Amino acid sequence: MLSPQTVAALQTEIHAWYRGHQRPLPWRKTRDPYRIWVSEVMLQQTQVQTVIPYYRDFLEQFPDAASLAGARLEHVLKAWEGLGYYARARNLHRAAQIVMEHHQGKIPDQWKAFRQLPGAGDYITAAVLSLAFGQPYAAVDGNVKRVLARLLVQKTPVNQGTAAAFTRAAAELLDRRRPGLHNQAMMELGALVCTPKKPRCAACPVNRYCLARQQDCVDRYPFRRPSPRIPTRHVAAGVVVRGGQLLITRRPPRGLLGGLWEFPGGGIESAETPQQACVREIAEETGLLVTVEHKLASVKHAYTHFKVVLEVFLCHYQGGEVVLNGPVDHCWITPDQISQYPFPRANHKFIPIINELF
Ligand code: SF4
Repeated sequence: MLSPQTVAALQTEIHAWYRGHQRPLPWRKTRDPYRIWVSEVMLQQTQVQTVIPYYRDFLEQFPDAASLAGARLEHVLKAWEGLGYYARARNLHRAAQIVMEHHQGKIPDQWKAFRQLPGAGDYITAAVLSLAFGQPYAAVDGNVKRVLARLLVQKTPVNQGTAAAFTRAAAELLDRRRPGLHNQAMMELGALVCTPKKPRCAACPVNRYCLARQQDCVDRYPFRRPSPRIPTRHVAAGVVVRGGQLLITRRPPRGLLGGLWEFPGGGIESAETPQQACVREIAEETGLLVTVEHKLASVKHAYTHFKVVLEVFLCHYQGGEVVLNGPVDHCWITPDQISQYPFPRANHKFIPIINELF
């Protein structure tokens, strides 16, 4: 529990530092709730520098909730391609439709209504409501948790569920008159000064209040629950050629990489070679008989909860009609049409090889 004097002093120091040191990020130039919302969704799980060009391009294509709601999901996924965590894009698209259908095109400015939108967790809701509407909610992201963990020697692991202790501490410290400024200042302090490794304590505006620094134990905070070992999945995929065209299939709209296109394939079973798995999976998923010509690439990719080793083969169509089992759509495309479809990043790692081949 912080004294009112300490809370006031912390707020003053952090806000003054932020006014002098904040980065000129594009979403900081607006109070438009839609633009702030898009930025906050993109920034979840993704670095600022990666987000900036995506943010600009996305808003050029979908400048408001109406244009996003009216767009085809495939176009939204194409604009999101490479950012990863595609459920964010699907949820944002669906949420924009709900805004148009149920909120007369206005982004809700009340907690309950906004929090019910797809993809709107506590963090996004607090961030949008405070930054765009000046509502007194503390936004608690990873940066804020790290600052609070060190400042208050908070032992709750930062990667443990909702971590209510951080929400309480952040609310206690929140400047309710300037919640948007305060939330951004806290996040910026974590991003620029109280960094995960080698925090710049000497330059920190709140170092004289920081308990971890006083106790000389900054490097012990934040606490983290040990992460489970990440398993590796071995997968085979085929670039199936028929008369100069390539087969691509679309994943179901929900779940991992939902709605994206890919080259068909699937998991390698223990008793088979990657080539055999490729032929079997294509037969099971599409009903087509193919033969493998040669291997095109071996690609490694890491998702949040598992890693993938993807063996990619050049295959030739031998017979059959497409009957989908798993994918929800398919297309035969020429190689120069690949760029028109949204693909997962793992596919992008071998698409340049396809382009060289044809
Ligand atoms: Fe973080 Fe160091 Fe500042 Fe404490 S003094 S809040 S550990 S940067």
